[in-house]
Amino acid sequence: MVCKVGKDSFGNDYIENFKKNGISTEFVGQTEDAATGAASIIVNGEGQNVIVIVAGANLLLDSEDLKRAADAICKAKVIICQLEITPAISLEALKMAHSSGVKTLFNAAPGLVDLDPQFYTHSDIFCCNENEAEILTGIPVDSPEDAGKVAQVLLERGCKLVVVTLGAEGCVMVSVEEPIPKHVRAGKVRAVDTTGAGDSFVGALAFFVACYPNLSIEEVIKKSNFIASVSVQAAGTQSSYPYRKDLPQDLF
Ligand code: ADP
Repeated sequence: MVCKVGKDSFGNDYIENFKKNGISTEFVGQTEDAATGAASIIVNGEGQNVIVIVAGANLLLDSEDLKRAADAICKAKVIICQLEITPAISLEALKMAHSSGVKTLFNAAPGLVDLDPQFYTHSDIFCCNENEAEILTGIPVDSPEDAGKVAQVLLERGCKLVVVTLGAEGCVMVSVEEPIPKHVRAGKVRAVDTTGAGDSFVGALAFFVACYPNLSIEEVIKKSNFIASVSVQAAGTQSSYPYRKDLPQDLF
C-alpha cells in the first residue's frame, strides 16, 4: 500500500486498521499539510449509492513517495493503480511497475474525461464500471452489449484486457487474444449496499492474478464476481469485504 493520510485521528485509525489486517504500512505517509481523505456516502433503498469524495492528503502523494517505494513496486507480482490520487502520480507508478514486468491492473475510478492515453498502453488489465466507461468513451452503457462495444473501443487504445463491470449483471471482458466480448454473469443476490463493490472486485482480481497465475482470466473474473457479490450483501464499504476464512474454500 503506497498512500498518504493526514496527521489526524482518521489517519491514525487508517494506519491501525492496516496493521490489524496485516498490510504493510512502510509506505503509508502521514502529512500535516492536509486532512485524511474522506468520503460521504448516501445509500438508497435499492443499495445504490451517491458518493462525495474529499481527496485531502491523497493528492499530496508525490514522486518522492514513489521513489521511496520503488523497490516494492518493481518487485510486486501485481500493482493496482486508480484515480483517487493525482492522476500523474498514479500513471508514474503504473509505468514504473510496467517497465519492471509487474502485471498492471488499472481501475479508472473515479471517471476522468481526459484520461492520459498512456494509462491504456501501460495497463495489462484495464477495469472500469459502466459510468466510467461512458465518461471515457462518450458511449452510453445500458446493457452488456453496449459494454462489449465500449470495451472494444477501450481495448483499441492499447491495453491487453478490458473488464467493464455492470453491477448485478456481473461484467463484460475483451482481450487482445479474445476480442469478442464475453459476458461473465454475477450470481443473483439481495444487494443491501453496493458501495465499494468495484474495489472488492478489483482487489479480488489482483489477488487471483498474483496468487493463481495459471487460472484462465475468465475463471479469475468469475471468482472476483462472486467475492464482489458477497460484499454487496453487507452494509458499509471496507466493512462489507469478506475475510478469506469466511468465503467458500473451493475458491482458493
Ligand atoms: P462500482 O462499485 O465500481 O460501481 P459495480 O457496481 O459495477 O462497480 O460492481 C462491481 C462488481 O460487484 C460487479 O461486477 C459484480 O461482480 C458485483 N456486484 C455489484 N452489484 C451487484 C449486485 N447487485 N449483485 C451481484 N453482484 C454485484
